[in-house]
Amino acid sequence: MSTTLISSPPAGRDILRERGQREVFCGLTGIVWLHRSIQDAFFLIVGSRTCAHLMQSAAGVMIFAEPRFATAILEDKDLAGLADPNDELDKTVDRLLARRPDIKLLFLVGSCPSEVIKLDLSKAATRLSARHNPNVRVLSYSGSGIETTFTQGEDACLASMVEGLATGTKPAASLLVVGALADVVRDQFERLLTKIGIPDVQFLPPKNASEMPNIDGDTQYILAQPFLRDTSLALEKRGAQHIAASYPLGVDGTTAWLRAAAQAFDIHDSQVNSVTELPAARGRKALERYRDKLKDKTVFFFPDSQLEIPLARFLTKEVGMTALEVGTPYLHKDYLADDLTQLSAEVVISEGQDVEKQLDRCREAKPDITVCGLGLANPLEDEGFTTKWSIELIFTPIQGYDQAGDLAELFARPLHRKTRLAV
Ligand code: SF4
Repeated sequence: MSTTLISSPPAGRDILRERGQREVFCGLTGIVWLHRSIQDAFFLIVGSRTCAHLMQSAAGVMIFAEPRFATAILEDKDLAGLADPNDELDKTVDRLLARRPDIKLLFLVGSCPSEVIKLDLSKAATRLSARHNPNVRVLSYSGSGIETTFTQGEDACLASMVEGLATGTKPAASLLVVGALADVVRDQFERLLTKIGIPDVQFLPPKNASEMPNIDGDTQYILAQPFLRDTSLALEKRGAQHIAASYPLGVDGTTAWLRAAAQAFDIHDSQVNSVTELPAARGRKALERYRDKLKDKTVFFFPDSQLEIPLARFLTKEVGMTALEVGTPYLHKDYLADDLTQLSAEVVISEGQDVEKQLDRCREAKPDITVCGLGLANPLEDEGFTTKWSIELIFTPIQGYDQAGDLAELFARPLHRKTRLAV
C-alpha cells in the first residue's frame, strides 16, 4: 500500500498516485449497457453464482424480452479440475445458438473464477467460431474483477472486436467513432458529423454484427469515451490514427470534439460553427437553468467510472462548480490531455485509491456533492454528505448538445433534494 506524489505531463502538475484498497465494481457491469448497443449480440459470462447475482441485480431480470446475456456457471467439479469445462462450455453454446438463431455475435466473458482455473476463453472462442461459422462469430474478453474497474469491461469488449475488423470488403471508415453511446446520442453525432462534411463515419461498437466497421491505414478514430486505452492501442496496431480531443460532454466539450474531428479532415471551423450554432444554442439555454443552482458548489470525485476528468472539466468550465479532488482509477494521459489541461492547478488529481485515506480527505474537504461508487454512497450519505452514483453517469445518455441540460441536472437534483430535506 503506497502513496506517491508524482509530477506528470502534459500539464506539468502533481498527480497523487495511490495503491491501496479500492472500492469498484468489476468489468462484467459493462454488459448492462453493451447488450443494448449491439442488438444481435449475446454475452455469455463464464463464471460463478456471484457473477450471475451481480448481473441480475445490476441489469434487473428481463421478463418480457429474450435476454441477451446469461451466466454459464462453473460448478465445483469444474473448479476442482474433475471435469473439462471446455466440453461443458461447448455444449452450453450449442444449446444456446440452436435456441436463439437471432444471435450473430457471441461474447464469452471471463470472470474471476474462469481466470483462477485458467480457462482459456480465447482458444474456446476460436474453436466455437470455427464450429458456428458463418452464422455466428464468437469472441472473448475478460470482465474479471481482479485488478479492473467496471468501465474496463467495455474497453476489453471493444478491443476484442478490433482484431477481426475487416479491410477491403467495403469502404473503410474515414472516421471511426469509438465508444458505446445511447442510440439517441449516436444518431445525433452521425447527423452532425455528416453535415459537417466528414465522409464514411462509422461506429465501434456497431448497432449490429453486420455493420461491423472496416478500417485501414487511412482511418482516423476519435474516442467518445475516455476509458478505451486497450481499444485505442489495438486500433493503432491496425494503423488507425487517434484524433486527440476533449470528450463530448456539455456544449463546449461537444463543440471541441466535433471541431477536432473536422480539423483532422481539413474542414474549416466556419463550417463547424454553422452546423453547430443552433444545437449549441439549445444546449446553452438548457444549461442556463442549472447554472445558478450549481455555481460555486464544490465537488469531490472518488475514482470509479474513468469519466471523472472530463466530467470535472464540464462542471468547472461550463457550470461554474469548483472541483476539490478528482480521483480516477487510471490516468491515461495520452487520451485525457485536452480535458486535463483545462482543470485549474488547485484541483487535486489523484490516480488509483487508498480508500480510507481518500475518505479522510473528503471529510476534511466537506464538498457540496461527492461523486462515488455505490459502495461508498450510502455510508457517506449517512455521514451527511450529498452523493451522486458515478455508475448513473454511464447508464444515462449524457454526451452531446441535447443532453447537456440532463447532465447538469444529474448534479443539481441531489443538491436540490438536500435543500428540500433541510427545510
Ligand atoms: S467477475 Fe469476479 S468480481 Fe465480478 S461478480 Fe464475478 S466473482 Fe465477483
